[in-house]
Amino acid sequence: MDLLNTLVEKGLRRELPTRDEALAVLATSDDDLLDVVAAAGKVRRQWFGRRVKLNYLVNLKSGLCPEDCSYCSQRLGSKAEILKYTWLKPEEASEAAAAGVAGGAKRVCLVASGRGPTDRDVDRVSKTIEAIKEQNEGVEVCACLGLLSDGQAERLRDAGADAYNHNLNTSEGTYGDITTTHTYADRVDTVTKAHAAGLSACSGLIAGMGESDEDLVDVVFALRELDPDSVPVNFLIPFEGTPLAKEWHLTPQRCLRILAMTRFVCPDVEVRLAGGREVHLRSMQPLALHLANSIFLGDYLTSEGQAGKADLEMIADAGFEVEGSDTTTLPEHRATGGGCGSVCGDGGGGCSDGATAEQAEPAAEVPAARTDLVAVRRRGAGTDIAPNA
Ligand code: SF4
Repeated sequence: MDLLNTLVEKGLRRELPTRDEALAVLATSDDDLLDVVAAAGKVRRQWFGRRVKLNYLVNLKSGLCPEDCSYCSQRLGSKAEILKYTWLKPEEASEAAAAGVAGGAKRVCLVASGRGPTDRDVDRVSKTIEAIKEQNEGVEVCACLGLLSDGQAERLRDAGADAYNHNLNTSEGTYGDITTTHTYADRVDTVTKAHAAGLSACSGLIAGMGESDEDLVDVVFALRELDPDSVPVNFLIPFEGTPLAKEWHLTPQRCLRILAMTRFVCPDVEVRLAGGREVHLRSMQPLALHLANSIFLGDYLTSEGQAGKADLEMIADAGFEVEGSDTTTLPEHRATGGGCGSVCGDGGGGCSDGATAEQAEPAAEVPAARTDLVAVRRRGAGTDIAPNA
C-alpha cells in the first residue's frame, strides 16, 4: 500500500504527513487494519523499541468541578455516582503514588478537578510532589491541575514537578460544543506556559465524542504544532449522568486507526494509550501496544481499569517490556530538547513529499453501547480500599 510505505518512511524521518494522508489512515478498511498497525508499529519501534512506559494516576481532588466539560464525570451538574472528595493530604497522595510505583509505574500523574489551581493549591501540590519524590527515588511526577496562571508552572517546576498535563481534547472548531466555561485558546495557553517553564508538556485528545475524521486530524496536527513530549489518547467513557452518556461511537478497529494516525503524525512522541482502552479496545488492547509506547497502570480518575497484574501480563504476552527507571523514555534528540518541531514543526504539511493518499471505503461500524464495562472507581485514593496497581 503506497500510503503506508510513505507514512513509514516519513515516520522514520520524523517528517509530518499531509492531512490527506492522516485522513486516509482513518478511512482504511478493516481488511487493511493489520497492515496499518504493522506500518505504524515500525515507526513506534524505531523510536521506542518494544518498551512500554507505565504511568499511575492519583486523583488528588475528585468531583465538584465548576466547569462544564461534557465528557467529564466530575463536571458541574454531573449525575454520575463517582467518588467525591477534596484535596488528599500529601501523605495520602504519596501512599497512593507508592502503590503505583511498586506496581512498575515510572511516572505518577497528580490530577485535581477544577478550572485551575489557586496559589494555595499550588503550595499544597508542591508539598505532595516533595513527599512523593522523597519516598520514591527517580519517579517522574506530572501535575494536571487545570488552567495555569502566570508563575504557577515555574513554582511547580521548582517543587520538583517534571511535567504538566493539559489536554486539547478536541479540535478548535468543535471545542465550543464540548465545553462553554473555558476556551480552546485557554487550553493552548496553559500547555504553552508549561513548556515555557521548562516542564515536559503532556497534551492529548479524547476520541469518540461525535467528532469527524477532520476534527481528529485537526487536533492531532494542533498537538504536533504545540510539540508536547507526551500525547495521551483517551477514548470517551460515556458515563451515565453526563451529557455524552449516549455517545457510543468507537469500535476496537476505529481506536486502532486513531492510534496509528497519531503515531504517524507524532512519530517520536510518547503516545499514551489512556482512558477508555478497556471499554473500547477490549480484547484488542495488545495490538494497541504496537502503536502506543505508554499506558496508565490500573485505575483512572473516576473509573476502574483492568487489574494492574493484567496490564503487566498483557505487556509480557504481547512481547513488550515495561520501561525501567534507568531508561530515558524519549529518543535522544527529544530528550535533549530538540523536539519534533525543530525538524518539521510547521504543522501544515510543509514536509510533504507529495505522495498520493489512497482512499478506501470507510468500514461499516456499528458499535454497541458497553455500559457493562464501565465501573465507577470505588478503591484507591479517597477510599479505605487498597488501590489497583
Ligand atoms: S475536565 Fe477538568 S475542568 Fe473539565 S469538568 Fe472535568 S474536572 Fe472540571
